[in-house]
Amino acid sequence: MNTQFFSVSDPRDPALRTVGEILRRGGLAAIPTETVYGLAANALDDCAVRGIFRAKGRPADNPLIVHISDYSQWAPLVREIPAQAKQLADAFWPGPLTVILPKSDRVSSVVSGGLSTVAVRMPSHPVARAIIDTAGVPLAAPSANTSGKPSPTTAQHVKDDMDGKIDCIVDAGPCSVGVESTVLSLAGNKPRLLRPGGITPAMLERVLGSIDIDDAVFHQLAAGKTAASPGMKYKHYAPKAQVTILKGSLQQFCEYVDAHKTPDTLALCFAGEEALLPVPAIAFGNEADGKSQAANIFAALRDVDSRGAGQVFARFPQMDGVGLAVFNRLVRAAAFHIVEL
Ligand code: AMP
Ligand code: MG
Repeated sequence: MNTQFFSVSDPRDPALRTVGEILRRGGLAAIPTETVYGLAANALDDCAVRGIFRAKGRPADNPLIVHISDYSQWAPLVREIPAQAKQLADAFWPGPLTVILPKSDRVSSVVSGGLSTVAVRMPSHPVARAIIDTAGVPLAAPSANTSGKPSPTTAQHVKDDMDGKIDCIVDAGPCSVGVESTVLSLAGNKPRLLRPGGITPAMLERVLGSIDIDDAVFHQLAAGKTAASPGMKYKHYAPKAQVTILKGSLQQFCEYVDAHKTPDTLALCFAGEEALLPVPAIAFGNEADGKSQAANIFAALRDVDSRGAGQVFARFPQMDGVGLAVFNRLVRAAAFHIVEL
């Protein structure tokens, strides 16, 4: 397949009409959002949605998020919109929050991965919204990476994984948030955070009161346990190198890396630390600044591969605010390998 490229900075760019047509006739388009690049298809067309799973190599039981650009598109997808869901949408949409509710019959089990619920989000990126508008249908869109690889935050990342496999890629520059949306389930008794993202637990609790945080946010799923969010059970975000997170001071980090380094060791560190380390290093944002770490973590993980690293030691991100999302992605890239110094 010949993958078309569109470089777009204005949501009124006429090229987006072509993208809308591609989606309406059942094609696949990689689109920019404020979180990461998404691989979109018409959410109401099973054949198109199956194409997403094929292009990504995504397991069929890992459900997709449905993206809308207008509130009126939400009600037909779910059984009902409870008061809490409305409060969340008022507070955080358009933006990086995905809300899970029991699904309507309009949503097929291909999209929901066989679950009785559906995840819906209204992105804030003006180009994403324009594409949903011109397509005229809700768009199912997971991250536009090959399954298991770090999510793409630039069109080049998408090209590296998807060139020749999808109809088009829309380039609108790097994604501002840099990690995937916060996923919150309202399908149970109490609101439950399934995946941390740009909307933090504190922000959610200001609207909802107390929420539960799923165990899978912090820990590896115990053998035989069912994942509330199927995506959490798969190996994720992983470069080819073996990644270990080191918890301790910068000095302890330097000493440990020096004692354990091999010729293909690389460090993932905070900005400004590179020159102090005994091995080549890639910075993933500023220390104690979760937002800058989120914006850089996936590009840093992809860089690890392109630099041919075999072993990677990473600094431990702070787990508060958006930092919780950074920790959640990094600990999966490290297959839960953490050493306390
Ligand atoms: P991605 O689209 O790559 O950001 O992945 C979507 C994430 O949302 C995955 O971790 C899914 O498991 C999760 N997800 C989507 N729909 C549901 C749902 N109905 N119930 C629980 N988790 C969901
Ligand atoms: Mg993904």
